[in-house]
Amino acid sequence: METWQKLLQASITKPGDLTRRYGIDPQPLEEVAAQYPMRVNPYYLGLIKEVDDPIWRQAVPSEQEVHDSVCYADPLEEENQSPVPNLVHRYPDRALFLVCSECAMYCRFCTRKRKVGGESMLVNRDTIESGLGYLSEHVEIRDVIVSGGDPLLLSDEKLDWILTRLRAIPHIEIIRIGSRIPVVLPQRITMGLIRVLRKHQPIYLNTHFNHPDEITETSAKACTRLADAGIPLGNQTVLLRGVNDDPTVMKRLMQRLLTIRVRPYYIYQADMVQGTDHFRTSVEEGIEIIRALRGHTSGLGVPAYVIDAPGGGGKIPILPDYLQSLGTEVVLKNYLGETYTYVNVLQQLPAEEPLQRVNASTTAV
Ligand SMILES: *Cc1c(COP(=O)(O)O)cnc(C)c1O
Ligand code: SF4
Repeated sequence: METWQKLLQASITKPGDLTRRYGIDPQPLEEVAAQYPMRVNPYYLGLIKEVDDPIWRQAVPSEQEVHDSVCYADPLEEENQSPVPNLVHRYPDRALFLVCSECAMYCRFCTRKRKVGGESMLVNRDTIESGLGYLSEHVEIRDVIVSGGDPLLLSDEKLDWILTRLRAIPHIEIIRIGSRIPVVLPQRITMGLIRVLRKHQPIYLNTHFNHPDEITETSAKACTRLADAGIPLGNQTVLLRGVNDDPTVMKRLMQRLLTIRVRPYYIYQADMVQGTDHFRTSVEEGIEIIRALRGHTSGLGVPAYVIDAPGGGGKIPILPDYLQSLGTEVVLKNYLGETYTYVNVLQQLPAEEPLQRVNASTTAV
């Protein structure tokens, strides 16, 4: 058995096995874990420094999960946009393909909390075949995001099989893998896995670091292996109350990601997912975080801040008000809050009007 498999097997799945060490009453948390599964492997557990720290909050069930009266099970309406089970086709040229129902850790804030790790998420050879069938019939799809659950929890053989089948579809130009494994179980990034991934280039991998304490020697090594294999690495962070809702923490996270060759891609406003209301922050806080990044640190470390629209509208970018007004002069505010103007180029006028414009400029000369 490989190291990562041993670690996974040694995961804590009952809150009592953890809280007993900290003198916390496990009973209410056992009820939470019965509804939303718990799994924390010893590697990730080792990152916890104290009760309720940013690592703990991401991994350990909280009573607040079962007292959420605000959010919805499937706010992004993924199920309504699934033509076949486990495949979400929301955008014109790309699709999200869920190939594994399990994760190396069950994040308490998960967007697919309604189904990952539970019996309601059925992934098997048949669902994968029907997804592959849909993808091969839809020639407009040129980008497939392989996700889950966590696709890197599959065996090398199974992953190789799925990637081989995807690569056999001529109109699929790129494959993206969405995985939290480099963060929560970096030991899984073995040389065997790297050999599989290398065969199916171009592959992009988007991972999911939320806090600077998640960047360790082990996770850095996993990212180095992936980057050395020619896999561009991106990161999506969810803005989470009590985890990273602080411009200083977020800036440190973005800077440290660049040092391990991971390019920040998105910061997500927390989705309105049932059981995660206590993690949500205001949108104003998100805007302040972007304001604290742009101009203040490398542009490479400034991701897009997006709200994935409830109802399935897709990701919508949110920017601080750098653009003050548009017109013949464009009024702009820089990262220090200073005002600048840019002289605009006149827009192409409708067909009958150009003469007037020519006259105006001739008289000016
Ligand atoms: C996020 C997402 C994508 C990918 O969006 P990009 O902006 O291209 O990264 C595709 N499909 C679904 C359903 C998504 O949620
Ligand atoms: S790894 Fe991703 S899919 Fe799995 S629980 Fe965490 S956020 Fe959800």
